[in-house]
Amino acid sequence: MSVKVEEKLFQNRYLVDEGHPHVCVPEGKGATPALKAIISCCPAGCWGLTEDGKVEPTLDGCLECGTCRILTAKDGDLNWNYPRGGFGIAYKFG
Ligand code: SF4
Repeated sequence: MSVKVEEKLFQNRYLVDEGHPHVCVPEGKGATPALKAIISCCPAGCWGLTEDGKVEPTLDGCLECGTCRILTAKDGDLNWNYPRGGFGIAYKFG
């Protein structure tokens, strides 16, 4: 029996901290190569291109894995923090 990644991810629960995104692209930052790379590297598929060409996240599925943080660390293309206490991901199996 095979299980799809999407089915596994659906087991998790998220509490979004509205108005306090824990990951964001700094104001005025364009779609750098590192930011574009996140779109295909984020394991939860949180990132996409907007109509005006910006790279933006939708964080209600963020696994807090840090992949995007590592990809953008060299040039500071991203502001990354853990969510505030009580918010973020709750793994079903700990
Ligand atoms: S921390 Fe991981 S899951 Fe969350 S947005 Fe970054 S790459 Fe995606």
